[in-house]
Amino acid sequence: MGNYDVIVIGGGPAGSTAARGCAERGFKTLLIDKELFPRYKPCGGALSFRTINSLGFEIPQGMIEAECKGVNVYYKGEMSSYEKEGRVAVMVSREKFDNLLFEMAKERGCMTLTGERVVSVDRGGEYIKVNTEKGAYSARFVVGADGANSVVSKFINGNGKEFLSAMAFVSKIEVHETLFEKEFLSFYFGNVYGGYGWVFPHGRYLSAGIWGLDWLDSKPVDSMKRFLSSNNFSTDNIRGHKMPLWDRRRKICSERVLLAGDAGGFVDSFSGEGISNAILSGRIAAESIADSLENGESAGDNYKKRCNSLFVNNLKYSMSFTRLIFRFPEFFLKRFIMDNNLLRQYIEDQASNTSYKEYIKYFVGMMRETTPSIRCN
Ligand SMILES: Cc1cc2nc3c(=O)[nH]c(=O)nc-3n(C[C@H](O)[C@H](O)[C@H](O)COP(=O)(O)OP(=O)(O)OC[C@H]3O[C@@H](n4cnc5c(N)ncnc54)[C@H](O)[C@@H]3O)c2cc1C
Repeated sequence: MGNYDVIVIGGGPAGSTAARGCAERGFKTLLIDKELFPRYKPCGGALSFRTINSLGFEIPQGMIEAECKGVNVYYKGEMSSYEKEGRVAVMVSREKFDNLLFEMAKERGCMTLTGERVVSVDRGGEYIKVNTEKGAYSARFVVGADGANSVVSKFINGNGKEFLSAMAFVSKIEVHETLFEKEFLSFYFGNVYGGYGWVFPHGRYLSAGIWGLDWLDSKPVDSMKRFLSSNNFSTDNIRGHKMPLWDRRRKICSERVLLAGDAGGFVDSFSGEGISNAILSGRIAAESIADSLENGESAGDNYKKRCNSLFVNNLKYSMSFTRLIFRFPEFFLKRFIMDNNLLRQYIEDQASNTSYKEYIKYFVGMMRETTPSIRCN
């Protein structure tokens, strides 16, 4: 057993960012992951404008598989398109991107333990004890960045608690380069309950998948197969998993244990985007731990306050918007997609980090203008 300042569980974008932030401040940091790196991660591989801005470094050009300048959005056969000056997203392989973040944490002095699954976390006086399949380690602070089925979240929130979640699936489709649109993300609404289908370009292959809210789609695998078949894609190679969403009942930290990324439920319930908040929460976790170790402040209080103001409040409004749109999809989705102003404003707001609260005001205002029956005097 070794004693550390910080143990980070999970080496995805949230964990590697938190571990890098702790190690570069000189804290004795251990990063544990159940997989050996580089490891596969089911993902569309789209790094949004927000994600790119949150990184704090330039993504190596050789890692970028495609750059997208716009989106095509389909609703039951009708299409709307939006093109942005500059780029809306870059496409990467998660295997390579996550490995880059993992290696950066190592370079800053973080110790790593891979191929070792954490099975439980315990309180042990001044230290938090982390038990793996092979041993036990302890630290003054633990960051739980262990993804959708987080063991650390069970420690904080209790076993057997169910929180709001969505399902996402992906399939890698090999294609001939000339057969597809190389610079646009495509989204297909109207065929997946509480979500959408998507096709993203990655150079010589596509990633295609679906995203859907659990409480609206009880058979997501069927939805995925239907979506792939409707595009004449094979249904043989489907990967995916649950994605935790913001839920007022979930605690995101205790005094010395902080949940980051998917473990905290930081995925946007409307867009399904999770990498930017994973990186942001990883960074905030490192800052909050530093303020505690260096200035005696409460890591848990600081973490909660900073997450709330930087992105958790926005996730609450995203959930309100999602519920509104999918409550009356025939009515709202069609307008969202076919009214070019609504779509353009959404994408620009996402890119400029404008809140969902502002967007909802704009959306409702536009609805009132264009729909006589809900016009207010
Ligand atoms: C099909 C699909 C498509 C998606 N597409 C996109 C997209 O295009 N763009 C986007 O922004 N987001 C996308 N997302 C969401 C995004 O992948 C996640 O939000 C993001 O990976 C969260 O990062 P993380 O670091 O919190 O968790 P993860 O990336 O899941 O990393 C968690 C790590 O913890 C490790 N781990 C888990 N349990 C243990 C344990 N018990 N012990 C030790 N280690 C453990 C895992 O091996 C893993 O390395 C998609 C998700 C899915 C499922």
